[in-house]
Order: sequence, then C-alpha cells, then structure tokens
Amino acid sequence: MPLREESTRAVERVERPTLSVVVPIYNEEEVIEILHSRLLQVLSPSVAAFEIIFVNDGSSDRSAELLDAICLSDVRFRALHFSRNFGHQAAVTAGLHAVRGDCAVVIDADLQDPPELVLVMLEKWREGYEVVYAQRVARQGEGIFKRGAASLFYTLLGSVSEIDIPRDTGDFCLMDRRVVDLLNALPERNRFLRGLRAWLGFKQIAVPFERPPRFAGQTKYPLTRMIALATDAVFALSKAPLRIATYLGLATSLVSFILGVVFIIERLTRDSGIARGWASTIVIVLFLGGIQLICIGVIGEFIGRIYDEVKGRPLYIVARSTGLE
Ligand code: UDP
Ligand code: MG
Repeated sequence: MPLREESTRAVERVERPTLSVVVPIYNEEEVIEILHSRLLQVLSPSVAAFEIIFVNDGSSDRSAELLDAICLSDVRFRALHFSRNFGHQAAVTAGLHAVRGDCAVVIDADLQDPPELVLVMLEKWREGYEVVYAQRVARQGEGIFKRGAASLFYTLLGSVSEIDIPRDTGDFCLMDRRVVDLLNALPERNRFLRGLRAWLGFKQIAVPFERPPRFAGQTKYPLTRMIALATDAVFALSKAPLRIATYLGLATSLVSFILGVVFIIERLTRDSGIARGWASTIVIVLFLGGIQLICIGVIGEFIGRIYDEVKGRPLYIVARSTGLE
C-alpha cells in the first residue's frame, strides 16, 4: 500500500473535526485502497480538519486488515469492526453514532458516490442547509432491471408514505451535527435512513449527480436484499398497508352483500340455478380466504416489527475498533 507511507502519522489530533465521513464496508477489498487515496486527494487540500470512520460490517475478505493498516498509519482514520454482518443501514447507524464532526457525510465505499461531491455538499452546508443529499440524475452500470425496480419503488413509496421522500436518493448525504444528533436519538430499530432523514425535516437541498458504476467487485445488494429494504421502507414510513387491508375487507364485504341480495332475488324469481351452483361458492370462499390471509400477513408484518422494537436488542455489535482511544 503505497499511500501508507505518504500519509502523516504526525497529523495532530483535532478535538472536533469539521467534517466526519462515514463509510460502510462489506467485503470491499478491491476498492479500499483506491477509496482511501481518492478521499485523501479530495479532502486533504480543502478541508482543514476531517475524520473518516470506516464501519466494517462483518467482512469475510481482507477488508478488516486493509482498514486497520490505514487507521494505524493515519490518525484521521478510524474503524469499527462489527462482530458479524448486520447490514448496510446498521453500519451507517454505527458510524453516525461515532462521528464527532460539525457535520457528517455518509458515502458508499465502491466509489459510486463520487468523493468530489462532498466538497459541493460542504459548500451548501456553509450556505446554511442542514441536510444536503445527492440525487441521481443518471445511473450508469445499473441494469434495466435495477433501474426499473428503483423507479417502481419510489413511485410506490411516494404514494403510500406520510412524508415526501425525494426520488432517486440514496444514503449519500451531508447532515449537520444537529440533524445527526436527532437522528441518533430516534429510538427505532427499523432504520431506513433516507426516510428518517426526510422525516426529520430542516433545510434540505438536493445536489444532482450522475452515478457511475461500481469501481470494482460485486453489488452487496442482491434482489432479496433490495426487496427487504423496500419492505422495511414501506412499513417504516406508512400505515398504508393496514389501511389497504381495511379497505380490501370493506370492499369484499360490500361485494358479497350485493351478491347475496342478487342470489336471493334470483332464487325467488327466475331460479336459473346459478344461486345453487357450488362453483360460485367455492370462488367466493377462496377469494375471501385469500383476502383474509393477505390481511393477516400485513398485520403480521407490523407485529413482527413491534416484536423487534420490544426486544430492544442493539442494532449492531462492535467487536473491536481501530484508531479510537
Ligand atoms: N454494505 C454494508 N453492509 C452490507 C451491504 C453493503 O456495509 O450488508 C456497504 C457496501 O460495502 C457499500 C454500501 O454498503 O459501501 C453500498 O453497497 P453496494 O454498493 O453493494 O450497493 P448498491 O450500490 O449496489 O446498491
Ligand atoms: Mg454500490
């Protein structure tokens, strides 16, 4: 690692850095070195005091080793190592718990969030914005499927959620100290951060950018994880599923009532046999059974989440840290 020698162990410990950068890391051995040099390249000349906090989310490759080497050679870098993989949102949460700066940036490790944009965000922050989030105007290197899924997701979320979530935003953002403190104080376990960030409010502004493809390695967000994240988002931000269940129940009750009346009239007048037919009975029974199961599922989702909250387990476990006193 050539940069280890270049970086200065002698950099003075700054009690309160202006900028803290949180980087979640899960099996990113291919990108850590380039990420390290890009961050230094961008931040060193322009930001007097900054700290970088890597959160190693239980990587099983050489990530931990590489991160430790960086943190041991430069006091501006620190690393938290989770005891296992707790997920992206937990990693970002842990990083935000550890930041000491006047503002904090959350950025992906794979260079899909260009570090140069951090300087633009800082400028906006100095202008007085408390939350500056990056908004993707183009997504390179993402398949038609991922783009379609994202688009569908934001449309769905926009229609059900009780607050406005800006489209095509990720976790890449800058938050003022106050916002970070408030975010950290939110007690919930289900942490869909971009939703919570929008919920907190304050003066927010978008910075548009073209999202480049991943620098190296594979996405850590396969379809199953995307669906889990999307489900978390919908259930964290709205009670719409419960309301939809209620409406479904009302609608089917109404339909069956009307059908009942029709069948009685039919039996008493023409009696063509349909009211006696067992096919209609089966269809209705199955239909109602299906609706009931869906509604139980929706209630179950909420109960599962309440159960998680009630258990009160920590969101993550830090096995060890490097560069922290
Ligand atoms: N990540 C993490 N824990 C996980 C999955 C991902 O910390 O369980 C990190 C990952 O290392 C990266 C960021 O979250 O820094 C975003 O992941 P990725 O780039 O794979 O997602 P995508 O950009 O494909 O949506
Ligand atoms: Mg990525």
